[in-house]
Amino acid sequence: MGTNSKQTTKKKPKNSIPAVAETITKSKKRTRKVSQSKPQPACPIGDIEDFQFREDEVKEIRASLLKWYDVNRRDLPWRRINDSDDADRDRKAYAVWVSEIMLQQTRVQTVVNYFNRWMEKWPTVQHLAQASIEEVNEMWAGLGYYRRARFLLEGAKSIVEEGGQFPRSLNDLRRVRGIGEYTAGAIASIAFNEAVPVVDGNVVRVIARLRTISANPKDKETVKIIWRLAGQLVDDNRPGDFNQALMELGATLCTFLNPNCSSCPISAQCNALLESKQNPKTVVTDYPTKVAKVKQRRDFSAISVVEILECEEGRVDTKINSRDSSSKFLLVKRPEEGLLAGLWEFPSVSLKGEEADLVERREAIDEFLKNSFGLKLDIVAREEVGEYVHIFTHIRLKMYIELLVLRSQDLRTKEKADMSYKYVDMKTLGSMGLSTGVRKAYNMVQKFKQSRSSLLKTVCS
Ligand code: SF4
Repeated sequence: MGTNSKQTTKKKPKNSIPAVAETITKSKKRTRKVSQSKPQPACPIGDIEDFQFREDEVKEIRASLLKWYDVNRRDLPWRRINDSDDADRDRKAYAVWVSEIMLQQTRVQTVVNYFNRWMEKWPTVQHLAQASIEEVNEMWAGLGYYRRARFLLEGAKSIVEEGGQFPRSLNDLRRVRGIGEYTAGAIASIAFNEAVPVVDGNVVRVIARLRTISANPKDKETVKIIWRLAGQLVDDNRPGDFNQALMELGATLCTFLNPNCSSCPISAQCNALLESKQNPKTVVTDYPTKVAKVKQRRDFSAISVVEILECEEGRVDTKINSRDSSSKFLLVKRPEEGLLAGLWEFPSVSLKGEEADLVERREAIDEFLKNSFGLKLDIVAREEVGEYVHIFTHIRLKMYIELLVLRSQDLRTKEKADMSYKYVDMKTLGSMGLSTGVRKAYNMVQKFKQSRSSLLKTVCS
C-alpha cells in the first residue's frame, strides 16, 4: 500500500470506499473490480494503512466482547487449566500449544477427543519430549497435516534441551522450533498474560468487517495491517480471554456465510453492518473479499499393497484369515521432508502427472519392487482393488490401488541410503498410525479380500 494509493485515494469523494481497491497492485485486478462495482458507502473509510480504531471504540469493543465471552465461552478442556502458580502456567502453556496446533485445519469437536487422548499419554512437555515420531504420528492419525505433529515433538525436545521450562514471552516462544507468530501469540497471551494479538482466519474476517477492509485478505500487506489492528484491540488486563473471545466470535457468530449480526456484542462498532444498513445493495459478507482459490495440481499414483505369504512349503491355506496371520506387508517410509514426511505407506509410484493404463501402472510398480526392495515377483494373485481420490491443500491425488500377493521369499531388508522399509504382519499394520490415505487403501484391500475370499484361497507351496 504505497504512496500511489494514497494519491489515488485523494481524488475520490470524501467517505468513498475505493481506497482499498485502488491501493492494490495490478496483480490484484479481481479485488479492484469487486470494489469498484460496489455503490459508494457512507462509512468512514480511507487508505487501510491509516485504518485504526478510535479510543472509545477500543474501550467499547473490549468491554462488550469480554462480557459476551464470559457468558458464551465454550467449555473446552484446554480452557479448564488454572494458572495460579508457575507449574500451572507451564501446564497451561503446553495445553494451549497442543490445542492450537491441533485446531489448525481441524474442527473443535474433532480436536477435543484427540486432545484428551494426547494429554493422557503425554501430560507434560517432558513426557512428549520422550516420545518417538512413530508414536506421535500414531496418536495424530486422522488429523492430517502431519508436519504439525512433528513440529510439536521437535518443539518439546528443544524446550527440554533448554531446561524444560516453557518460554514466558512472545519473543522467546518464537525461538522454539515449530512455534510461529500465531502460536506464540496464543501461548503468550493465554498462558502468560502478555498483551499481544493473535490473528487467525476468524480474526481476519471479524476485523475486515469491523473496518470494511476489502483488500485481498491473503495479501501480505493486508495481513500485516490486520495484525496491527488486532494489536490495538487486545485488552491489557485480559489479553488471553480477549484473543479467544475475538476468535470465538468469528467461529460462532461472525461466520463466513451467515453472520448473526443481531446477536453480535460489537455490532455498534461494525462498519460492514452500518454500510449494509445505509446501502441495501451491500451485505456484511462482502467482507473480507473472496479470493479465487489456487488451482489444484492433479497428481496420479499407483499403489501396490504387497502381501507376501509366509506359510510352510507344501501347506494349503484355504482360510483367508489364517493366511492373513501368516503374511507380511511391505511398508515404505516417506522422506523426512515434504508431504506426509516420515510416515509409513504402501509402496507407490508417481505416474508423472498423467493417468496411466493398467499395463503401464503394473510395469512401473514391478520395476520399483524389484529394483528398490529386491523382491522376486512370484505372483500368487494380483487384483485391481479400486481408485481413491485424496485432496491435499494444493494437490488432488488420484490413487490406483492393487493387491499383489507374492509367494514366500527371503525378506531380509537391505540397507538403502535413501529409503527405509519394513515388513509387518496384519496385526501390526492394523494398529499402526497410518495417514488417512494409507488407511483408506488398507480398508479397501480388506473389504476386497472379504468379498473375494474364494479367489484368494491360495496354495502356498
Ligand atoms: S455485526 Fe455482524 S458482521 Fe459485524 S462483527 Fe458482528 S457479526 Fe460480524
